[in-house]
Amino acid sequence: MLWLEADRMGFLLDAVTQLKNRHWLEANLHREVKAASELNEPLCLIMADVDHFKKINDTHSHAIGDAVLREIGALLKGQARNDDLVARYGGEEFVMVLRGVSGPQMAERMERLRAAVERHDWGRVVTGLGVTTSIGVAAADGALAFRELVERADTALYAAKSAGRNRVVTAA
Ligand code: GH3
Ligand code: MG
Ligand code: MG
Repeated sequence: MLWLEADRMGFLLDAVTQLKNRHWLEANLHREVKAASELNEPLCLIMADVDHFKKINDTHSHAIGDAVLREIGALLKGQARNDDLVARYGGEEFVMVLRGVSGPQMAERMERLRAAVERHDWGRVVTGLGVTTSIGVAAADGALAFRELVERADTALYAAKSAGRNRVVTAA
């Protein structure tokens, strides 16, 4: 039933970025978080959101917006190791999950990612374009479930937005 597999993969991949999508995350992350917790292994989840993305769509076009999402996806992948998870969570929001990485280590990596997005040559996509991201980091200390981790990362992301965007905030 190869076609079924292909169909299933299509359903779990995001059509714009070719990253795993939210369905995939919801289906697989509980297991990943539980396994790390049982092994007493650190695990971090981040949520990254493109700053003022609506303005990028409005100023340029939806097609340019899509191109930005693809490039952001590639930049996230560039920060990831082979078995790290990178997914498109929704609109212009991305999730990354790294096992074996502590909160402070993750914040450092995400600061590098934030800087890489900011200095990326966006002018290659369209003249005059600049893109920044805000990132919320949540570390799974102890028995935090997937849903709680997402909520914590989301709260930290909201704090990064409130503090002026283009920054990384780690959940308290
Ligand atoms: P903030 O800095 O607070 O995050 O502001 P924002 O403009 O990035 O956030 P807002 O939630 O106001 O707008 C998100 C926009 O993302 C609105 C929606 O049209 C756009 N969007 C969602 N999915 C896609 C997509 O697949 N492609 C494109 N081009 N745009 C999308
Ligand atoms: Mg945004
Ligand atoms: Mg958003």
